[in-house]
Amino acid sequence: MRYRIAIGGIHIESSTFTPYLSGQSDFRIRRGDQLLSFYPFLEQFSDKVDFIPLINARALPGGVVDRQFYDDWHSEFFELLQAAHREAPLDGVLLDIHGAMSVENCDDAEGELAEALRALIGDEPLIATTMDLHGNVSDKLFVASDLLTCYRTAPHIDVQETKLRALTHLMAALDTKLPIIRAKVDIPILLSGEKTSTEVQPGKGLYQTIDTICQRDGIIDAAIWMGFPWADQARCHAAIVVSGTDQVAVKQQAHTLAQAFWSLRDQFAFVGPTADSKTAIAEALQATVKPFFISDTGDNPGAGGAGDMNLLLKAFLEINYNQKITKRILFASIYDRETILQLYQHQPADTVSIQLGGKIDPSFGGAAALDISIEHFFTDDVAGRCALVKHDNIYMIITENRYQYGSRSAFQTAGVMAFDEFDIIVVKMGYLEPDLSAAAKGWVMALTPGAVNQDIVNVTYHHLKRPLYPFDVDFVPNLAVKWHIRHFS
Ligand SMILES: [Zn+2]
Repeated sequence: MRYRIAIGGIHIESSTFTPYLSGQSDFRIRRGDQLLSFYPFLEQFSDKVDFIPLINARALPGGVVDRQFYDDWHSEFFELLQAAHREAPLDGVLLDIHGAMSVENCDDAEGELAEALRALIGDEPLIATTMDLHGNVSDKLFVASDLLTCYRTAPHIDVQETKLRALTHLMAALDTKLPIIRAKVDIPILLSGEKTSTEVQPGKGLYQTIDTICQRDGIIDAAIWMGFPWADQARCHAAIVVSGTDQVAVKQQAHTLAQAFWSLRDQFAFVGPTADSKTAIAEALQATVKPFFISDTGDNPGAGGAGDMNLLLKAFLEINYNQKITKRILFASIYDRETILQLYQHQPADTVSIQLGGKIDPSFGGAAALDISIEHFFTDDVAGRCALVKHDNIYMIITENRYQYGSRSAFQTAGVMAFDEFDIIVVKMGYLEPDLSAAAKGWVMALTPGAVNQDIVNVTYHHLKRPLYPFDVDFVPNLAVKWHIRHFS
């Protein structure tokens, strides 16, 4: 007998601390064969599964999702799902989500989505949900999903592996028809990704315990979510889920993993050197090695930052105004569509007066006024029309779309063939992506303000579920195991 499994989802991390709304132009939509080929491992199952593509939408982290865009996506997802299920009953759905999406006027977007999905297909088909470990697991999402898992690495190098694992578990459950027991523990900890990398302790050791748990009899999967700190919602905190076929083992392992996680809370620290903006700039200017990277952490589009903040640029311009900086500095990058439209009226080598950045959230002081000369124009698949411009020795990549310069090839597209052409490179990220990390001779994470401010204890929240570490330190955690059992009829 062949199984019918539908696949689709929506994937974005939304900061609720930026006025930016993520919409149509931010999402890459995949349908039909394009969607299926996004999951290359599906071929392994072609002898026993008919995969039904729904719709998949994926965006760079950003702001809250525009309601109209989401409603359109939602309608298409459910219309395709309903049509598929009506044609012949589905055996399962692989729901591919991030877990930290916010939609206008909705505080638990993925929970409501999973709930609606369950309501439409009924109790019989299995729902396997695959997620980012920076997502959140609300009770609604947990109750609606028979199987939930997430990445086990940050930076994420197991993206396809995770989706494949979710599908493999779904297939195994369909084959065996054994009851699935799943247990969740909400962990009252909320930390940023810059403190919970799996490449260093204690994150590394914590995630390694998953392997040990999964080797035990009666266990299918174990997963650890760190939760998303830049949304002001009750669901934002860490969680663990253990699934298996042996009720006692599942509950026991969930309890043990939760305790292990909680006991490590004080040991999570920034994965690299940090400094306030002023100190970070001074360190970079004094460095005797190159390239020296500065991460503009508060405006990291990889976590939901606007990507157009210019506070570090203004600081460098001010220093340069007083005493011309001789080092070559590159800002990669500043998102500013308006400025790109203006620059594209000109030719390379033209001098233009621009008002750069600071437009999405003007509360940080607004645009930077400066004269630049145009080095060259280029286009990038994601960043759109771009320009490399300079003011004295300060170079800036300006982009038409929000973007993150995280790879060597992205810099090369911009005409920067080697990182050491520059003494200082300011990037919009937290921990350095692998290509940058390999090239960096010096690095500091500047703790800048913005939509993804790393100083979360001093961010104003109203809806987080308290007590919550590190906002609260001295409390006894509720590590109760919530569990469900799913039988096959
Ligand atoms: Zn993530």
